[in-house]
Amino acid sequence: MSHKIPVTVVTGFLGAGKTTLIRHMLENAHGRRLALIINEFGDVGVDGEVLKTCGDEACKEEDIVELANGCICCTVAEDFIPTMETLLARDKRPDHIIIETSGLALPQPLVRAFNWPQIKTEVTVDGVVTLVDAPAVSEGRFAANEQKLEAQRQADEMLDHETPLGELFEDQVNCADLIILSKSDLLAHEQLETVKTSVGKETREGVQMIAAKNGKLPLDVVLGLDMKAEDDNRLSHHERHHAAEGEDVDHHHHHDHDDFETFNIALGTIDDETAFKAKLIETIKAHDILRLKGFVSVAGKDMRLVIQAVGPRLDAYYDRPWGMSEERTSTLVVIGQAGMDREGIETNFI
Ligand SMILES: [Zn+2]
Repeated sequence: MSHKIPVTVVTGFLGAGKTTLIRHMLENAHGRRLALIINEFGDVGVDGEVLKTCGDEACKEEDIVELANGCICCTVAEDFIPTMETLLARDKRPDHIIIETSGLALPQPLVRAFNWPQIKTEVTVDGVVTLVDAPAVSEGRFAANEQKLEAQRQADEMLDHETPLGELFEDQVNCADLIILSKSDLLAHEQLETVKTSVGKETREGVQMIAAKNGKLPLDVVLGLDMKAEDDNRLSHHERHHAAEGEDVDHHHHHDHDDFETFNIALGTIDDETAFKAKLIETIKAHDILRLKGFVSVAGKDMRLVIQAVGPRLDAYYDRPWGMSEERTSTLVVIGQAGMDREGIETNFI
């Protein structure tokens, strides 16, 4: 029986708002035990200090690990893998791991490191979230302070790659499963649209962009839907909530965070796992789906299939056998920006 711990990789240049976002994640963890790996050097330990002193229940000091020996993608074997092994060996394993890479790290080698046998069966990349400094990009730069970025590069003796900033930026955007345009409130609507268009040229198909203010986003979007195997009631929380209020379930427009909406799709047993996954990816690409997650009953399998997707990144694995008295059904939870084509999405699966 396996329960893989989801890992969110947060990338983005210095000043793009990674620490603000992570702090917001910690403050809104709602009882989930988060562990943080912070890859930082040059400006030694600033982020770590900020986060360690936030005094939040969710981020105990021992849950914050700093990798200060150099760029995370250049020190996978020496630093990253041993750190992950230590985290996974703890009695109280984290529910979710967040990795804040240094702005100079290449995300691809880090994502590939999750295939190392030491950690492969224990963790899964939940998603790569890339923060883009919207005002900087709007002005034709990659970061608010490119000189500071260059200084950070000089400070890292372990850095193997001399990747120019432009290429690093493209890599970070291209590796992203979700893009957050930070400080978007500082831009006029047209400016923001221009930034979206130019960043959109570098993203993979199916990757969504979200405009953020002060790093504030519904946590479900960044951390994954709060769906626990043991707590299937949560699956239909939104619907129960609305039903209780006598509201039409379709009217999701008056939520706390009205830019996003969530709905469930209930399905029976799936016959063909490969075809089903292909259909999921196709649906994600065709609609504004930020996240999709669920449990699926596959014909002829005794185990339950877990599905989690962030943008076009789809992970699927069998987590546990179906219970003797458990009803074998499939449930997908979809989260997207408000106004997504719910009917069109549902129709795809029926
Ligand atoms: Zn590196």
